[in-house]
Amino acid sequence: MTISERRWVCVDTDISENLKRIRFDVEEAKAKYRKPDDAVRIMAVTKTVPYQRVNAAVEEGITLLGENRVQEYLEKKDHYSPEAEVHFIGHLQSNKVKYIINSVALIHSVDSMKLASEIDRLAAINGICMNVLAEVNIGGEASKSGVSPDELREFIDEASQLEHIRIKGLMTIPPVGSSEECFERVQTLFSDLRSRQAGKAEMEILSMGMSADYVSAVKYGSNIVRIGSGIFGPRK
Ligand SMILES: *Cc1c(COP(=O)(O)O)cnc(C)c1O
Repeated sequence: MTISERRWVCVDTDISENLKRIRFDVEEAKAKYRKPDDAVRIMAVTKTVPYQRVNAAVEEGITLLGENRVQEYLEKKDHYSPEAEVHFIGHLQSNKVKYIINSVALIHSVDSMKLASEIDRLAAINGICMNVLAEVNIGGEASKSGVSPDELREFIDEASQLEHIRIKGLMTIPPVGSSEECFERVQTLFSDLRSRQAGKAEMEILSMGMSADYVSAVKYGSNIVRIGSGIFGPRK
């Protein structure tokens, strides 16, 4: 074994230990707060992480990867283990949709009609129907993207008229320090929307929770937790 191989083995042990702890926490929160057959998927968020370590997480049973940056994704995607499903979770500019439309299964960060329309247009050209989530700016922070809670219903009604996208649920990133209260509010928005199912929208996916707050996200109904540093260690 070369020195660099030995280093990877060592690093993979960290990923394995981290995942063990995260899975334990998720199962514990599910047992406490959720129905027995509720599924919660653990997404590995790959930003800044070399593809070798991403693949090590896939080896450990991760089936879902989250991508933030188009350029970084394009550089790494051909090296990823093909069995993992990839979702786009970062802020997406309309002019970049063309680079990812054919290789991601779900876009979590749809926050404007401009972006929704561009996804719809390119999905039509490519003969697909793209699954998306509406991103909610639950804390009303100017620094964050997302549709404001007040405008969410109208946004979903309008976006769900588009023929080549399908709205599958909501995504949110709460302000630091108020996760719990925000998750509870997004859960309420989600169940309200779910009970009225506008147009083609099918409210199934609630994407919330990151390394610092995934347990509380599971408590409030999340079914995809997006975890980066908790799996791979601090970002450089
Ligand atoms: C980076 C990122 C995450 C993961 O953050 P961690 O705190 O490292 O778990 C989750 N979601 C989005 C949208 C991100 O950009």
